[in-house]
Amino acid sequence: MRIGGKLVGSDRVIEVFNPYNNQVIGTVPKAGLEQIREAYEIAAAYKPKLSRYDRSKILRRTGELLDARRQEIAEVITAESGLSLKDTLYEVGRAYDVFVLSSTLCLQDDSQTFSCDLTPHGQKRRIYTQRDPLRCITAITPFNHPLNQVAHKVAPSIATNNKMVLKPSEKTPLTALLLADVLYEAGLPPEMFQVVTGDPREIADEMLTNPNVELITFTGGVAVGKYIANKMGYRRAVLELGGNDPIIVMEDADIERAATLAAGGSYKNSGQRCTAVKRMIVHEAVADEFVEKLLAKSKAWKYGDPADPKTEMGTVIDEAAARYCEDMTNDAVTKGAKLLYGNVRKGALYSPTVLDHVPFDCPLVKQETFGPVSPVIRVKDIDHAIRVSNSTAYGLSSGVCTNRLDYITRFVSELEVGTVNVWEVPGYRIEMSPFGGIKDSGLGYKEGVLEAMKSFTNVKTYSLPWV
Ligand code: NAD
Repeated sequence: MRIGGKLVGSDRVIEVFNPYNNQVIGTVPKAGLEQIREAYEIAAAYKPKLSRYDRSKILRRTGELLDARRQEIAEVITAESGLSLKDTLYEVGRAYDVFVLSSTLCLQDDSQTFSCDLTPHGQKRRIYTQRDPLRCITAITPFNHPLNQVAHKVAPSIATNNKMVLKPSEKTPLTALLLADVLYEAGLPPEMFQVVTGDPREIADEMLTNPNVELITFTGGVAVGKYIANKMGYRRAVLELGGNDPIIVMEDADIERAATLAAGGSYKNSGQRCTAVKRMIVHEAVADEFVEKLLAKSKAWKYGDPADPKTEMGTVIDEAAARYCEDMTNDAVTKGAKLLYGNVRKGALYSPTVLDHVPFDCPLVKQETFGPVSPVIRVKDIDHAIRVSNSTAYGLSSGVCTNRLDYITRFVSELEVGTVNVWEVPGYRIEMSPFGGIKDSGLGYKEGVLEAMKSFTNVKTYSLPWV
């Protein structure tokens, strides 16, 4: 672990597995409560003094170091997650963007000024605002983007002179420890970012309720997100939870283009993105043509050894996750879906899988199936498409394939989601634009560097006489 600038071990360890070959690739300490408490005491006692220039320099240098070590870092992510090198090289590039954009955004002073002589009872004064950092932030991240999920927490934290204690997923903790070392090399005072590892059943409650914690930023599944909301008490939280995102294909769409987006959205990152395409809602007039093209693209998707640079898709996170995809697919077939391709599993390796005529309410598409499954749901018209899209508890993002402005305006108004991307996958974003969901996907507080910088700060106003 990285606590107060020291490397901290423990007698008890957690083994980290390569999901492709099941070999142990490393171990991390299983923290005890005393170590967690110490990290928060160190954070609370430290008063950051970095100027905007200092912070900007550290963030930019971090981006440059990540870029220079791109291949090596991608290999670490691949080893602990089973994601293909293609996917993990892309992820390192995204983390570069996060740090470089944060380095620019932290130079920008976002304070406001209000003149007070605006009404008959006004005074000759001015009110100013400034954003102050918090006492301490807890960050908890999932396995699916071991680097970029952490980047999205720590970069805005540094940009706002905050102190953060991070617990990465116990399935993929090695990348987060590596990132911490890169940050220190770039000049970050170690008290501003500490990393603890361990069993969430033992240490999570302390991380949620320690008196020094003013905000919890969490990315992960709905069940844990709701647990946090119940447990944390009087403090705030940014919860970025699961998704069940549709790509909607209407009858006027260019079907080749739509099928390309659908396949990429479904299989990149082994289908393990909160915003992966998890449902394909297709107008019945074009569904046959769409399925044919989707099938061809799925069969051509090269999956296998994640470390082979030619492999497009590696494994899912572990054998249990692959079995879940298999079980959900088999269950959908018993409920009337037609399996057209895939559903082949070897350990944690699960093939691209295509199903047609999937009932909109079967668990495969009602719950979040976090893997490379492409379920096609056929619909009659736009009302039907919107109804099906809104029929799950999730509300993260969506992709829409149509050129009709009347359809587009209805989708933007009526889809119950945080994002509508026309002619893009649900996952399309830039790292500084607002990002996040509603309903079970989140409480509506957004991430993305700019929004995170806002949520990680308290606005203070001060006023002065003005003659
Ligand atoms: P998870 O919820 O199982 O675990 C996430 C983190 O929570 C891990 O670090 C885990 O150790 C920790 N945790 C477990 N129990 C806890 C507890 N009681 N209290 C506090 N923390 C606890 O999620 P996962 O399986 O690692 O990740 C996959 C999920 O993350 C999917 O649902 C995916 O959609 C979601 N996700 C959401 C976003 C988003 O931005 N909305 C992005 C990526 C992933």
